[in-house]
Amino acid sequence: MDFQPDTGLDTFREEVRAFLREHLPRDLAGKPVGSVRSMRPDLVRWQKILNARGWGAPHWAQKDGGTGWTVLQRLVFDEECVAAGAPTQDGFAQKLLGPVLNEFASPEQKAEHVPLILDGERLWCQGFSEPGSGSDLASLRTRAVRDGDHYVVNGQKIWTSYAHESDWIFLLVRTDTEVKKQAGISFLLVDMKTPGITVRPIRSIDDCHHLNETFFDNVRVPVANRIGAEGDGWNITKFLLNNEHASAADLPILRRYLIQLRTLAATQRVGAAPLIAQPEFALRLARLEAEVTAVATMVKRVAAMEQDHSPAAHAMGSILKVRGTELQQRMSELLVEALGDYGALAYPEPHDDGTAAAMPLQDVGRGIANEMFFRRASTIYGGTSEVQRGIIARMLFQL
Ligand SMILES: Cc1cc2nc3c(=O)[nH]c(=O)nc-3n(C[C@H](O)[C@H](O)[C@H](O)COP(=O)(O)OP(=O)(O)OC[C@H]3O[C@@H](n4cnc5c(N)ncnc54)[C@H](O)[C@@H]3O)c2cc1C
Repeated sequence: MDFQPDTGLDTFREEVRAFLREHLPRDLAGKPVGSVRSMRPDLVRWQKILNARGWGAPHWAQKDGGTGWTVLQRLVFDEECVAAGAPTQDGFAQKLLGPVLNEFASPEQKAEHVPLILDGERLWCQGFSEPGSGSDLASLRTRAVRDGDHYVVNGQKIWTSYAHESDWIFLLVRTDTEVKKQAGISFLLVDMKTPGITVRPIRSIDDCHHLNETFFDNVRVPVANRIGAEGDGWNITKFLLNNEHASAADLPILRRYLIQLRTLAATQRVGAAPLIAQPEFALRLARLEAEVTAVATMVKRVAAMEQDHSPAAHAMGSILKVRGTELQQRMSELLVEALGDYGALAYPEPHDDGTAAAMPLQDVGRGIANEMFFRRASTIYGGTSEVQRGIIARMLFQL
């Protein structure tokens, strides 16, 4: 991959900026993101605007309904969206399920799901983890038993992010208990409105509702909703998890934090001077900026390795996940510190009983304490740092 400045890329950047200036609605720009993904109405509205421009899937190939952009174009697009304060897209659909559909789904399955993903009409959640089956995902016990042209699904998933506002779930189930555990897993797509599905909220340390327990009680799923062959779920999962590790560094979030840190550095005051005049703060900010640049370079490198089907891409994705998520934690901690006395203020969503209203604070500070708390989980979700370090160590051992 060529990392030299590219004038074609400057033209592309201008095109994206012009699009954002013209089409990003003012009332959507710069809203607090709510940790991982924007609120459903904002996300859907923005997705439709992107799709109308032909940019509904910035990371997919043109033949699959995507933009066909190069890695560098995608990074420019992400950068400009963050700078303009655009809402997020549905990462589960765009980065995890989408590539799976493009690689493994039948033409009928693609025809059913892809247009709805592109238009934001079908939001997705991920039903992998279970109590006792997180890092050791292959030990999952949610059972799918064949009954004619349906599976009957029974079991429980946990930590199902956004299950409460998703339309469909991509689900790992055990279809065979007699074979090696990896060989007995299948990959199903399930409509969340199917009778027998119950979603219960889990409030996390940031006092928000992203997470859920999801129960399946005799849920009937058409066999036609299985991706790939019965028992092929583990191969599909390995493909999906590789994408998850690489995207979990979440460069757009790191860039958003940098913008917030720079704003606070200029606007927060220590006595008469701005915060940036404090040598210790300035040094910490400069170090973090350098680290974000390093992660951005690694993102390009990993993407280039994936494009070339390099065998080291998997371990590099794990390195990126560890570096990116640890950086997310340090940056969100500095944001809280930069807010001084206000740093302790959290912005819980109203609880179901209506208690805990938002507290007033300048916009840049909104939600920062929640964000800092939420990021404690970034070294857990998408595969814990310990598990990633195991992958890296095994890769180094092989070299
Ligand atoms: C905020 C959040 C959002 C999430 N969203 C989703 C979602 O949408 N869908 C979904 O399916 N899942 C989701 N998860 C689940 C997530 O993938 C799991 O929590 C994660 O894989 C860890 O599994 P576990 O919680 O069962 O911990 P365990 O696997 O029980 O791990 C416990 C501890 O043991 C360590 N450990 C385990 N195995 C090893 C090993 N081999 N080597 C070294 N150390 C080890 C771990 O690092 C950890 O410290 C989410 C989790 C969080 C926190």
